[in-house]
Amino acid sequence: MTAPVKKNDQLSVYIEDLTHDGAGVAKVDGYPLFIQGALPGETCTVHVLKPLKNYGFAKIVEIEEASPHRVEPPCPVFNSCGGCQLQHLSYEGQLAWKQKMVQDVMQRIGKLDVTVHPTKGMEEPWNYRNKAQIPFGMNGEVPIAGFYKTKSHAIVDTERCLIQTDEADAILSGLKPKLWALGLQPYDEYTKRGQLRHVVVRKARATNEVMVVLVTKKRKFPQKDAVVDTIRQLIPNVKSIMQNVNPDNTNVIFGNETVNLWGETTIEDHIGDVRFEISARSFYQVNPIQTEVLYKQALDYAALTGNETVIDAYCGIGTISLFLAKNAKHVMGVEIVPQAIEDAKRNATLNGFTNTYFEAGPAEEVIPRWFKEGKEADVLMVDPPRKGCDNALLETILSERPKRIVYVSCNPATLARDLRVLEDGGYKTKEVQPVDMFPHTAHCEAVAWLELV
Ligand code: SAH
Repeated sequence: MTAPVKKNDQLSVYIEDLTHDGAGVAKVDGYPLFIQGALPGETCTVHVLKPLKNYGFAKIVEIEEASPHRVEPPCPVFNSCGGCQLQHLSYEGQLAWKQKMVQDVMQRIGKLDVTVHPTKGMEEPWNYRNKAQIPFGMNGEVPIAGFYKTKSHAIVDTERCLIQTDEADAILSGLKPKLWALGLQPYDEYTKRGQLRHVVVRKARATNEVMVVLVTKKRKFPQKDAVVDTIRQLIPNVKSIMQNVNPDNTNVIFGNETVNLWGETTIEDHIGDVRFEISARSFYQVNPIQTEVLYKQALDYAALTGNETVIDAYCGIGTISLFLAKNAKHVMGVEIVPQAIEDAKRNATLNGFTNTYFEAGPAEEVIPRWFKEGKEADVLMVDPPRKGCDNALLETILSERPKRIVYVSCNPATLARDLRVLEDGGYKTKEVQPVDMFPHTAHCEAVAWLELV
């Protein structure tokens, strides 16, 4: 295909769709142009920035006809910060788009004609995140902190984030101006100088407990007492202050060593009536309100009567497993990160469950071995990372044929691909329920229910 547009062309286009990362899509003689900030249904004058062979990028010059779903983004740094992609679309519009996106991939990738329900959204889609990972840096002589620009490591200096908690805001706006007085210099990625790299703030919504993790370049931390005092003043409900040491020249936030600076080493949260102890490095769902909605949906689809054996593949710290355990005879969870399995076992004990079993390893190796050893499963729950289920796992499912599968997915495209494989192997997808775990971002979570026919 040769591009029908040239760099710097200006033209009027109709926006048909949004990409999976929230950019508007227009077609010029079939050639897709991606336009940041444009919404479906809009007509815009655009300026071509980068025409590639099969697709190109353009920017809005003028919105000639605006979408009825366009709203003023409430966050002042929405256009530069990479955290949110959809604040210019009304919340109802976001929910409708997520449903349509899931419907589209079910048809296009999965070749499936299946009911995709309206997205289950939040009543209050703000301040929902329970974890903020705030990079600190320097702008000349001035300390800055906020979130990264899209696909970049440039920090957008921010005082308040509308999807984070007040406690995260207290760090953003309150710690920054005190850093000079504390003698704690932010780490500069370019000069490699300075000490404070990130501050991670986690809040357990159910108990109000907060953990603050200071990620520093060095273990030695002479300002420790003063920094602890400052954080306790900024966040009176803080229960745990930890230090993580990351001396490496890397984009990875955490290093290997984590030490306690003040208070407890864990905080406790509840999902439904299940209790979880969360440590500095534990994986934990970031939207606790919607996690409960998601897990309830998964539980509904699992339709447990109390007599079933359930396998929870990609179980993380066992959150779904424990949520299911009181309705099942036995739950077996498998997860590749050994530390997460340790957390799962501890949390099972904390809640008094005796009908759970957790094992660390790749799901695609552990589950076939379980079956070989004679274990059986009535219901299989899978919640893989974005790349979807491993082929070997899908093959095992098709040969062992558990009668019900509940597939929790954070990537509709790989969900649709895997559903096609399962359908070809004898399963029927009954329905799909999108759940909005990440309002104002383009991320979309969905649960599918499959039965063996
Ligand atoms: N079900 C959990 C976690 C889902 S995230 C929850 O709801 O919280 C996906 C998980 O899959 C991650 O914890 C990741 O570590 C794990 N994972 C990735 N590849 C895996 C594999 N091949 N086998 C088992 N687990 C894997």
